[in-house]
Amino acid sequence: MFGEAPEFSVEEKISYDRNEQKRALYELLSNETGITLDWGILTGVRPLKLYRELTDRHGREKAEDMLRSVYLLSEDKLSLLSNTYDVQMDAHYDMSPKAVSLYAGIPFCPTRCLYCSFTSNKFSKEASVKYIAALKKEIHAVKDIFEKKALYAESIYIGGGTPTSLDDEEFEELLYEISKAFKLGQTREWTVEAGRPDTITASKLCLVKKYGADRISINPQTMKQKTLDLIGRSHSPQMIVDAFKLAKEAGIEIINTDLITGLPEESPEDFEETLKKIFELGPNNITVHTLAVKRASRLIDEDPGIAFRQANTVRQMLEISKNMLSERGFKPYYLYRQKHMAGNFENVGYCTKGTQNVYNIRIMDENQSNIALGAGGISKVYFPEENRLERIPNVSNYEIYIDRIDEMIARKEQGII
Ligand code: SF4
Repeated sequence: MFGEAPEFSVEEKISYDRNEQKRALYELLSNETGITLDWGILTGVRPLKLYRELTDRHGREKAEDMLRSVYLLSEDKLSLLSNTYDVQMDAHYDMSPKAVSLYAGIPFCPTRCLYCSFTSNKFSKEASVKYIAALKKEIHAVKDIFEKKALYAESIYIGGGTPTSLDDEEFEELLYEISKAFKLGQTREWTVEAGRPDTITASKLCLVKKYGADRISINPQTMKQKTLDLIGRSHSPQMIVDAFKLAKEAGIEIINTDLITGLPEESPEDFEETLKKIFELGPNNITVHTLAVKRASRLIDEDPGIAFRQANTVRQMLEISKNMLSERGFKPYYLYRQKHMAGNFENVGYCTKGTQNVYNIRIMDENQSNIALGAGGISKVYFPEENRLERIPNVSNYEIYIDRIDEMIARKEQGII
C-alpha cells in the first residue's frame, strides 16, 4: 500500500482521499500487468502548474513528497518537473495584469499529417484571402479593446495550421496588421510558426524579419524520409536543412524545431539519428513531443493500437533525447501532457540558455490572459484575485468563422474585461 497521507490542508486531504481509489485501482492493474506509469495516477495537461502551486504553498521538499505519495510520480518525472521549474524561475516575466499573450491562428497547411487533430485545412488562395480579411477585422477590434483597457501583448504567437502556407501577399498583410496593432515597446517576443519546410521561402523569412518577429519554428518531426512519406508530410529532410540555412541568412534570431517520438515504424536508433542531424543545424529550442493519437486524426482509423504498442519505444526515445540534449547544454523549460499519448508520457520544450519561449511558458502556467484570434482560437481571460480563467471561444471551422466574424468580435468585446 502507499502509506499514510502526509500533513495536508483540509482541501488537500479531500483530494488525497479522492485519489485513494485511483491509487488502489492503479496498484491492482499494475500488479496484474506488471506495467507502471512514470506519471503515476496524475492526469491533466499541466503537471508543472501543480508542482508550482504545491511549492508555493508548502515549499519544494514537501511538494515533491506529495507528488510521490499522492500521485505516485517516478523520481525521473519529479526531476523533470524540478529542472523545468528552475529554468522558469530564471526568467523574468511581466506580472502586470495588463500584460497578455496574443495568439493568431492560420488554419491552412499544404497537406494533412497522418496524426493531425488540429484545425487544419488544405491551403487555397481564395479561402485564405477571405480568411485574412475576417482575421483583419478581428485584429482591429481587439486592438480597440486593448486600447480601451490599456492591455498590451507581452508575447505574440502566430500558429496554426501553418502560417507560412499563405502566399506572400496575405502573409505580409497578416504580419503588417499584427505589428501595427500589437507589437509595442513592451512586447518581449514574437514567434511565427513556419512549421512545414515546404512553405518556407526567402521572401517569407524576410517579411518575418521586416515586421519584427524574432522567432520561428521549423518542424521536421523526423529526419527519416521513409517516415515523412508515411505520415503524409510532403517534404524531405534536405528541405529542413535548406529552411534552416534560409532562416539564418535572413537573420532570424531564435529557431525552434519540433520532433515526435513514437512515429510509426521508427526505432530508438532512428530517433537518435534524427537528433544528431538536428544538432548539426543549430536550433536554439527543441521540442520533443510524444505521439498522441487523437480521435480527429487519420492515424486512429489506420492504426488504433499504435499508442499502446509504441510505449516502450517512446520511453527509450525520451531517455535518449534527455541525455543528448543535456550533453549539449539544452535544458527543459516547459512541458505539457495530452490525452491519448503513447505510454502516457509528455511533451517537453528544451532551450539553450536564455532562449526559453515566454509564450509557451505562460499559456501552460495559466496565470495570464491569453487572447486568441482566428478560427479555433480559445481566449482565456485570467482573474488574478480569484486565480481563475474564463474562456471565450471562437468557432473552429474557418468558413463559419468568416461568416460569423461579427459574433466572434462581440464575444470578445463582452468577455475581455
Ligand atoms: S503541419 Fe501541423 S497543423 Fe498542419 S497538418 Fe501537420 S500536424 Fe496538422
